[in-house]
Amino acid sequence: MEENLVDLPFFVKNGFYKKKCKACGKIFWTLREDQEYCGDQPCVDYSFIGKPIHASVSDVFGVRKAFIEFFKENNHSFVKRYPVVARWREDVYLVGASIYDFQPWVTQGIIPPPANPLVISQPSIRLTDVDNVGKTGRHLTGFEMMAHHAFNIGGVKVYWANETVEYAFRVLTEAYKIPEEEISFKFDWWSGGGNAGEDYEVLIRGLEVATLVFMHYRVENGEVIPMPNKIVDTGYGLERLVWLFKGDPTVYDAVFPEIINYLKKRAGVKDLPKEIAVVLASKLGRIDYKEPEKAVIIKEKIAAELGFDIASLDKLLEPHENIYALADHSRTLVWMLGDGIVPSNTGAGYLARLLIRRSIRYLSRLNLEIPLSELISRQIKIWSRDFPEYVELEDTINEMVDHEEQRYKKTLARGYKLLANKLKKMKQKGLKELPIDDLILLYDSHGLSPDIVSEISKEYNISVSVPLDFFSRVAARHEKPQLPQKEVEETISLEDLHGLHPTRLLYYEKPEICNFNAKILAIFDNKYVVLDQTGFYPLGGGQPFDTGILKKDDRKCNVVRVFKIGNIVVHECDQVPFKQGETVEGIIDKERREALRRSHTATHIILGAARRILGPQVWQAGAEKGVEKNRLDITYHRSISEEELQKIEMLANRVVMENRRVSVKWMDRNEAEGRYGFIIYQGGVVPSAKIRIVEIEDWDVEACGGLHCRNTGEVGLIKIVGSERIQDGVSRLIFKAGLSALEYVQESEFILKSLMRILGTQRENTLKKVEELVSENSRLRKLLEEYEERELSKLCEELLTRAQVIDDLKVVISQVEMSLDKMLKLAIKIIKNAPESMVFLFSPRDKEGPYTIMFGEEVVEKGYDARIINALLIENKLLEGKGGGKRDLVRGHGRLLVSADKVLEILQKR
Ligand SMILES: [Zn+2]
Ligand SMILES: [Zn+2]
Repeated sequence: MEENLVDLPFFVKNGFYKKKCKACGKIFWTLREDQEYCGDQPCVDYSFIGKPIHASVSDVFGVRKAFIEFFKENNHSFVKRYPVVARWREDVYLVGASIYDFQPWVTQGIIPPPANPLVISQPSIRLTDVDNVGKTGRHLTGFEMMAHHAFNIGGVKVYWANETVEYAFRVLTEAYKIPEEEISFKFDWWSGGGNAGEDYEVLIRGLEVATLVFMHYRVENGEVIPMPNKIVDTGYGLERLVWLFKGDPTVYDAVFPEIINYLKKRAGVKDLPKEIAVVLASKLGRIDYKEPEKAVIIKEKIAAELGFDIASLDKLLEPHENIYALADHSRTLVWMLGDGIVPSNTGAGYLARLLIRRSIRYLSRLNLEIPLSELISRQIKIWSRDFPEYVELEDTINEMVDHEEQRYKKTLARGYKLLANKLKKMKQKGLKELPIDDLILLYDSHGLSPDIVSEISKEYNISVSVPLDFFSRVAARHEKPQLPQKEVEETISLEDLHGLHPTRLLYYEKPEICNFNAKILAIFDNKYVVLDQTGFYPLGGGQPFDTGILKKDDRKCNVVRVFKIGNIVVHECDQVPFKQGETVEGIIDKERREALRRSHTATHIILGAARRILGPQVWQAGAEKGVEKNRLDITYHRSISEEELQKIEMLANRVVMENRRVSVKWMDRNEAEGRYGFIIYQGGVVPSAKIRIVEIEDWDVEACGGLHCRNTGEVGLIKIVGSERIQDGVSRLIFKAGLSALEYVQESEFILKSLMRILGTQRENTLKKVEELVSENSRLRKLLEEYEERELSKLCEELLTRAQVIDDLKVVISQVEMSLDKMLKLAIKIIKNAPESMVFLFSPRDKEGPYTIMFGEEVVEKGYDARIINALLIENKLLEGKGGGKRDLVRGHGRLLVSADKVLEILQKR
């Protein structure tokens, strides 16, 4: 049944007028009988610029507090904000709205919401609007979305549309004291992220301050399907409310006054004349650079109204726009880097780098020689009351920012050279315009932003048309993760397993046991065995599967692979000699299992050590635990030094020796997130309501499905054997644990001892001795080269004096015993000394070996061809062998059958 969400009782009862907008035709509700327009952009202009609505509070802190207090008093539970990095999701990198916190598990009904109904204020990041930021007066890359959510899931009714609209009306009129008649509700249709539903946009004086979405449809292949779950998804723009209450020309002026004033003062930028600022500001709301053509037309109109042409208006506005964008970007960067993003060339790191590079560019356009980190520090201080958690991260954040800034300058220097070369070549070819793909490549690989490229291109008379939404396009290419391909295509599917009982997981109940009895529930393809219970750990969570055997009496088979489909464990065996219903004994390869437990526990220990030595920006980016070798990939902005590696290793082994307890418990997901924070998601997304928490006492807590030691002491020695930067922003630590670590140390020691024996040194002076030998060796090599060079020169001189002259050319024929390379060196020397030479160098007569024929420049000019002479020698049976090359050089291998004089004779005859 279609629900009527237009004629809500709240509107009817409270005397609202239902209207149709004269401009856009959309339906809206208002208390003003004479209102003709819906109150949204672009139907009306902003009417609060310079004429603010006087609210009870007007700063960010106060507006947020009033909102949360109101909903707390009205039965909503307050939920702390989530990080801006969406670690619980696979489909996006950044949180773009408060509902992202609860997608997909809560909205799908898999996990209960952390509270219901709830109120939250969620920092959100959207880079799709990045080109608008600073220019439109209203767009931000980072904003706080205040929201109240109600989840009507699983038959529980909390509240729906009517109550939502009433809450919105009440919070605005009661918490902020906004006059009732100022508020209009525009009815519309919303769709996004695979969901859809009706919505109301809450409009005040031309500004959309909130959106109330009633999510109760799924969108599949363009079809709208009703959902049993009904979710109230609201979003109130904190910054927009502050703007409305202050009436400043732009949202930036309202939210970032301190940083803007500071930048204006430093850059010597004067305020716009008030008349211009107010007129401009109230009209800018119509502009959106995501529709570039339209934006230009509107801007031209605004410029004309103000008596400007568009170029002079742009010139007037540019420094202001740069300052506004800087104010926005620097705060967004605090959120991103403070919540654990490391700048890099992929994923969320790419988006952080994009904002850093844009910021640095703005600073330079303003001729400001302030390091970006100084701005970031100021932001952290300014926002310390709202976000105290970033204060202690200031050094970590700024180290990354400084590192990026230095790197960027180097990248730029290279990029400038490359661009100059490219433009020069284009000019030579007569090309007139730089293609857009090149523009993107120049930014992506060489850090050159389009404004730099167009400036430089002008010098070469090459035009560049920069799309006004350039950065939004670039960001869009990086905003969504590529979902990983499924690792193994199983030949057995969930349907095959239908009706089977879930496997009892003995490896969780008793991780120590390596023998167990179980009944065979099913056998597929004489290869796949399903048991009622198993001790075999299946592949998962970066931990390899167990191997072993299944046996009964004298029949047995090898378990070669174990994997889980749904909640059933499948054992892949080589040949199954059993029947369904039989009870078999499972015997797990104990040594392999023990090694895996050690490696896995060591991974957690090392991660904890790396975070303590390197800093909180370290997150696990991937891990692979094995028997012999393990790897742990961590996010970090620069290469890890040898000294740091040693410190990490030392600390990890200390934790081993402290024999800390490793405990495992199943926890309610919301409770675990609440107690430990999102740091538990080191291994990735866990799609269930209950999660398995592995905690190393006071050291590391992770949601993890793997098998671990009971105490850190069982891990034994941890040895980091190498580290490499596998991509920008990610380093790989390669390590061994337990016996394989000891074996590695023993092998290394064997090498050292052998060296000591060969060199006759003591352990402590072996290194010095090797260094001495190496430098001695290179000195001797050099001497030898010099000696050989002298010998070769002597030989060259000698051969030239013995040369025969034929047809004004010198013919040098000699039998020499040397390598092919050395022969070439000698030949080159001869023709350099005497370009009129034909050089024939053979190995001694009747001995197989290299030979070389080389002609000097003058010989070639006379038309001689070494390849023809070579063929002639072979044809006449003077030479037996094979050689080839170019007109002036033939190199080969063969046997000279006659004396050198005989060769000369043949040549003379020609
Ligand atoms: Zn309208
Ligand atoms: Zn783990």
